[in-house]
Amino acid sequence: MDRLELKHFELPRTGERIGIDEHGKFEVPDTPIIPYIEGDGIGPDLWKAAMPVFNAAVKKVYGEKKKIAWYRIYAGEQAAEKYGDVLPDDVFKAIKFYRVAMKGPLTTPVGGGYRSLNVTMRRKLDLYACVRPVRYFEGVVAPVKHPEYINMIIFRENTEDVYAGIEWERGTNEAKEVIDFLKKQLNVNIREDSGIGIKPISEFATKRLMRMAILYALEHKDPSLTIVHKGNIMKYTEGSFRKWAYEVALNEFRDSIVTEEEIKNGKSGDGKLIIKDRITDAMFQQVLLRPKEYSVIVTPNLNGDYLSDAIVAQVGGLGLAPGSNIGDGVALFEPTHGSAPKYAGMDKVNPGSLILSGAFMFEYLGWKDVKDVIEKAIEITVKEGYVTYDLARLRDDAKEVKCSEFGKRIVYNIERL
Ligand code: NAP
Repeated sequence: MDRLELKHFELPRTGERIGIDEHGKFEVPDTPIIPYIEGDGIGPDLWKAAMPVFNAAVKKVYGEKKKIAWYRIYAGEQAAEKYGDVLPDDVFKAIKFYRVAMKGPLTTPVGGGYRSLNVTMRRKLDLYACVRPVRYFEGVVAPVKHPEYINMIIFRENTEDVYAGIEWERGTNEAKEVIDFLKKQLNVNIREDSGIGIKPISEFATKRLMRMAILYALEHKDPSLTIVHKGNIMKYTEGSFRKWAYEVALNEFRDSIVTEEEIKNGKSGDGKLIIKDRITDAMFQQVLLRPKEYSVIVTPNLNGDYLSDAIVAQVGGLGLAPGSNIGDGVALFEPTHGSAPKYAGMDKVNPGSLILSGAFMFEYLGWKDVKDVIEKAIEITVKEGYVTYDLARLRDDAKEVKCSEFGKRIVYNIERL
């Protein structure tokens, strides 16, 4: 797609499109156009605090040489108001065309209305990896003794597993037909009053996820990558996930990796990426008891959902947890929490998750110094005790500030670095 034609949105007036080379690597101009969706509920509050932080950090590192050309696009309630459509096709076109984008949270009404916009976007843009880095910020009250030992990044498969949305309600014709088929054709008995869900896990989706995670681990010189699966029970889905993931490591990255098994058998690690695997339930214990031993984690959808929230809780929760959904040549960065409608417009919530999602995006663009500046300034701000209500309520020594004040303080600390 060389030209972008949109029905509703105006085209950006400044900036350049991010390019892509023949190996699929981004070529980032000095003024990349980044589309962004404010989001519903607390979305506008978050952006008011976060945008000045992003711009101040880029300025701190590059002066006037580089700048993000922010390009506002609309989804969710704002799009419904403006265009009568919660998710106009323009959203997909613009994100695909400009390749890297950010979004705030979007509300999904419970029980009806429309399908989750977030899930629809992930599916339509084939953002097959949900990638969440997790680290600790000093000054945050965490429930474990050594939250600083946690420095992990989770690559969660984003398109398959029981999340594929293939399910039928108890008593429907479809559920009855499946139950009947299983009984007659495969001699499998399922209670008549069951709801049915299907758990597909494919070689294709597993391998592309593993490839992305290994490439990340090698680029960042991470010590290990752990495949987390429940293959002891679900042999042909989770067990195959483990098998296919190892195949990628051994067949495509042989010179750069060593398996834990090989090390046990006397082979030298020699600074190579160690590939291990763990069964999901054991892994929940391991990240609590021996977090230092884990770095990159690769796992199917459902495990990844639970595990990433559990690990984020270990460092003190959602407020400072960035997120992203990444595909081939397209990536969407977003906070991990929802639109928290009860706090909308109160200038109250913590913009840290959105700010850190932006920091992660800068790293992804190759502007790692910008990420470092943002993280450093957040570190200082949190250590000073200058925090929003969610972090302040856990500390006696904190000064509770508004969402916008937290952002301003981070900008102040960026400028003083
Ligand atoms: P939520 O919006 O994440 O809020 C749940 C609670 O988490 C809040 O009440 C608040 O807890 C805390 N929280 C969330 N964001 C925070 C922030 N920035 N700073 C401080 N605390 C924060 O979850 P929800 O209420 O279940 O979902 C609301 C809507 O968001 C739903 O429509 C859901 O579908 C949608 N959602 C969207 C996304 C997305 O866009 N990716 C993700 C998840 C949910 P306290 O009140 O205890 O302080």
